[in-house]
Amino acid sequence: MTQIFFYLWRCMKDFIIIKPPLFIRRLFPSFIWKINSEKSIYLTFDDGPIPESTPWTLDTLKYYNAKASFFCVGDNVRKYPIIYQRILSEGHSVGNHTFNHLNGLKSPNYIENVNKASLYIDSKLFRPPYGLMRKNQIKEISKKYKIIMWDVLTADYKKYNNPKFVLKKILSKSKPGSVILLHNHIKAQKNLEYMLPLMLRFFRQKAWICEAIDMKV
Ligand SMILES: [Zn+2]
Repeated sequence: MTQIFFYLWRCMKDFIIIKPPLFIRRLFPSFIWKINSEKSIYLTFDDGPIPESTPWTLDTLKYYNAKASFFCVGDNVRKYPIIYQRILSEGHSVGNHTFNHLNGLKSPNYIENVNKASLYIDSKLFRPPYGLMRKNQIKEISKKYKIIMWDVLTADYKKYNNPKFVLKKILSKSKPGSVILLHNHIKAQKNLEYMLPLMLRFFRQKAWICEAIDMKV
C-alpha cells in the first residue's frame, strides 16, 4: 500500500500543465501564445543572461544551427553585458523581462521597473515574469510592447523524477508555431542540459526550423 502511494506521489510530481488552458488564452487574445507558421518553432529562454547557463545555451544552439529568443532580466544584462552582446551578435532576439524579475501582482512600481530594463534591452517584446500582470499594467505595457506568452511550458526549473517521460510529453505537445518556454536559470540548468540537445535533434528530424521571434513586431 505504501509503495503504491509513493508511486502515485512520484507520478504526480512529474505532472506539469504543458499547455496553457484554452480559456486563459481566450481571456487574453492580444497576447502571443503561438505564431502562425508551418515550419518554424520558437524556443524562448527566460531570466538570463547568466554565465552558468547562457554561454552553454548559445553554444548548443550554434551547434544545431538554431535561433531563439532570450527574455532578459535587465539587472543581469547590466551585470553581464558581454553575454548579452553575444546573444545579439549570434542572430538571436531579445525581450524585456523587467529589471528585477518582478511579479506584477505584488509590485506597485512594475512599469518603472520595465522602463528601467528598457535602458539595457532594446526590444519591442515583453514577457511578464511568472506570467502575471494586473489589468492596468497590461494596458500600459501593450502600448509599447508585444506581450509574448508561451504555448509549451517545460517547467525545467522543477526537479523531474523521470526526465525522459517529461521530455516525451513536451515533444508530443510541440508543433510548428509553438512558443516553447525554457529558462537560463541555475535551477533549470540540469534539466536544460538534458533536454535542449534532444529537443533540437527532434526538431531537426521533423525538419522544423528554430527561429527567433522578430523584435520589431
Ligand atoms: Zn522569469
